[in-house]
Amino acid sequence: MNIKEKLTLSVGVLVALIIGLVALSVISLQILTATEPTSPVADYGLTRALSLLLLFGALSISIGIWMLVKLPNSITRPFQELSQGINEIAKHNYDVELHLSGSRTMEQLSMNFNRMAHRLRDYHNSSLSQLRVSKQYIETIIDSIDEPIVCIDQNLNLYYINNEALDILNLKRADVLGKSAQEIAMRNDLLRLLLVGMSEHKVHDNAEEKKVEPIKVYADNKESYFQVKYLPVRMNSDEGKAKESGTVILLKNITEFHKLDVAKTTFISTISHELKTPISAILMSQQLLADNRLGALNPEQKELSESIRENGERLLSITGELLNMTQVESGVLQLKPHVTRPIELIDYAIKANQVQADKFHINVEVEYPEVKISRLYVDSEKIAWVLTNLLSNAIRYSPENGRVIIGAQQTDEHHVTLFVQDFGRGIDPRYHESIFERYFRVPGTKIQGSGLGLSISRDFVEAHSGTLTVESELGKGSRFIVTLPV
Ligand code: ADP
Repeated sequence: MNIKEKLTLSVGVLVALIIGLVALSVISLQILTATEPTSPVADYGLTRALSLLLLFGALSISIGIWMLVKLPNSITRPFQELSQGINEIAKHNYDVELHLSGSRTMEQLSMNFNRMAHRLRDYHNSSLSQLRVSKQYIETIIDSIDEPIVCIDQNLNLYYINNEALDILNLKRADVLGKSAQEIAMRNDLLRLLLVGMSEHKVHDNAEEKKVEPIKVYADNKESYFQVKYLPVRMNSDEGKAKESGTVILLKNITEFHKLDVAKTTFISTISHELKTPISAILMSQQLLADNRLGALNPEQKELSESIRENGERLLSITGELLNMTQVESGVLQLKPHVTRPIELIDYAIKANQVQADKFHINVEVEYPEVKISRLYVDSEKIAWVLTNLLSNAIRYSPENGRVIIGAQQTDEHHVTLFVQDFGRGIDPRYHESIFERYFRVPGTKIQGSGLGLSISRDFVEAHSGTLTVESELGKGSRFIVTLPV
């Protein structure tokens, strides 16, 4: 039973008592008039007493009903006001004030409540101004950074954007701050590109780190290159879970590096090209020298001539790899596809590696299915180069008298797999991705090499919309798999 119900019950009992009292008096008067002989004076007295009694009775009942209606409200009103005041505080409205009256306790209560509200307001204002100051600091820092920065909140509104970003996006801060980034992107190509990158980045968030290609921007009549980074802003919720509440897009200006990279590629391309002719001439001279028709060589001379041939061929292969790499890097790689049977590519790779395989007594086995295997529509020169390179690795990284398998499989209706498997030293899982990077060589590799073959191979295969992957276990060997669409 709450306080209002208790009060209603008490006042009800009071009214019932008064009604009972009046009723008792009326009954006693009636008994009196009925038992005693009546005289006009007594009659008059009795009538008057009865009227007075009725009047007081009616008055008492009215007062009782009035109290019944008003009293509970007047008692509970301060509590209601207090409860409303507390609700306002909960809504961070600290300007609320209570003016309870009726008793000293109530006045004391409103005084304490108002003091508490004032204190809370002061505290709130001070932390708000502190937040404003911190925000100002952060904005000043972001504005002073030379790299463009764009902050997008969880509703995809432009939360903040620094001067550099405004410059390259050709926007005005006042026009865009707090506005929907998607709406602005409808008329801004660069922002659209960044938002697309942002959503792709979210998709790949838990997957393998996806390589983000640099973006090219035309501004002030010049070309600039930017490497984009998407940083998720995470807030800890009350339950302790990290919730994404926005993204910071960082653009790193790599124009200078890009220029250097282009210069490096051009340099390597020119040098490799220039080196090919003299190396070929050296090899031709060596062949003539080794030919008995020009006079027999003694065993030492033969050994020297053989060494010239081996090193000359290595040089030629390295310059070839470098040229291939520059083709990929400068974007001039052009595929000349035509229909090829996978076995032709395999045969080419075996022939190209026959001398090396014989030298190390490696048995090259072919695993080719009896059933018909789909023909490939590829640039056979490039894919044959990939297979040759994979087979050369398999032979070089296998122990003498080892065994290597090269083959093809029909993966499904739309794909054919070419593979090269060896039973050599294998590759530590830590390096399964790094071996496809430029110039990377597994630490401790003693056999000579440039670290370019696999990275170029992957580029060639990907240019055909295929994949090049590795399955390898230390001590057990490696299997390199090329999957191509048919
Ligand atoms: P290179 O062989 O000229 O060094 P690659 O790009 O072909 O360059 O290979 C990169 C590295 O991967 C090699 O240095 C070697 O450490 C490792 N590797 C490649 N193929 C094999 C293989 N079949 N077995 C073991 N290690 C390999």
